Amino acid sequence: MTPDPDDFNLFEAEESLAHRTAVLLAGQTLPAELEAPCRELLGGYNKLLRETRQLIRLSDRRERELNRLNRKLEQLTSTLAYQAERDPLTGAYNKGAATRLIEAALEREEFGLLLFDIDFFKRVNDNHGHPCGDKLLQNLADLVQESLGPEDRLGRFGGEEFVIILRQPSLIVCKGFAERLRRHVELTPFDCADQALHITLSFGLVLCQPGDHFEDVYRRADQALYAAKHNGRNRVEIAA
Ligand code: GH3
Ligand code: MG
Ligand code: MG
Repeated sequence: MTPDPDDFNLFEAEESLAHRTAVLLAGQTLPAELEAPCRELLGGYNKLLRETRQLIRLSDRRERELNRLNRKLEQLTSTLAYQAERDPLTGAYNKGAATRLIEAALEREEFGLLLFDIDFFKRVNDNHGHPCGDKLLQNLADLVQESLGPEDRLGRFGGEEFVIILRQPSLIVCKGFAERLRRHVELTPFDCADQALHITLSFGLVLCQPGDHFEDVYRRADQALYAAKHNGRNRVEIAA
């Protein structure tokens, strides 16, 4: 039967021929004039085979090393991407990243924008020290993150001023959320150098419409926050 050319395997054919030649050489059944060239050819072939196997092992090692470096690079890239948009102290989005998220949301949906600021935070630093103030900011950010829905986002806009993108198209629902958060923070003892500190937050809330401009909604939320401070703090004011 004629062999199918598609089934032909050069490597196997060489191996088989080399094996048969070795058997013939061992049995000294080859014609005398073929013995020396066959020995030489077989020696050359076996040397080439050893070198090829070494090369394959080396290339496998290099491939494994390259894959390891690639995985490290991917991790580094995602760490860098994370750090580029986060505030290092609290893990909240930094101002640039939060602004971009708000601008993107303004292009497509109705949502609540909540600006909040810690009341009399300077006193915490003055009375308990800056490290204590830092820890409080971290714990507050964690508490707020836990109260958010999966699509909501927390950003740190300034020292002790934060912003929440609340994926809720209803002013009543947004106001309810802000009131619950305000109350939750008011009742939470924050651990600071073995002391329990109590803080309160003031909120400015604006309901954003698709097509609104960032500067405009931010200004309105800021005015509402200012009104909350002016009207006694620890309260939520809705933007005009
Ligand atoms: P108000 O109720 O009017 O907001 O009073 P306040 O004391 O919170 O506001 P003020 O703007 O007078 O002070 C804000 C303080 O926040 C001053 C500053 O030292 C502190 N602060 C800003 N950023 C940080 C920070 O990263 N860490 C710490 N520990 N303090 C910060
Ligand atoms: Mg403050
Ligand atoms: Mg402030």
